[in-house]
Amino acid sequence: MKLDLNEVFLYFVVLPAGGGLLLWFLNEFRKSVKNGRRLHRKTGTWECSKCGHVFEEGEGVTLSRCPRCGGLARDIKAKSRRAPKD
Ligand SMILES: [Zn+2]
Repeated sequence: MKLDLNEVFLYFVVLPAGGGLLLWFLNEFRKSVKNGRRLHRKTGTWECSKCGHVFEEGEGVTLSRCPRCGGLARDIKAKSRRAPKD
């Protein structure tokens, strides 16, 4: 059996490199998901941007919907924390 240079290149360079790159990518992706979760606040107070309904939402929530009307809600706790006191 005779391997030509292109096949050698494919089996020993492209495939290992491609596999390694894929594993690296999956690992980075997993890490970013993990870090993203860790950054979330434990609980939040949310206010509906549509009807103004205020409610609490549990752990690990980045985006919340109003239980009353289904509109998008914003985290009002985060906003008040950043506001200067006067
Ligand atoms: Zn609402």
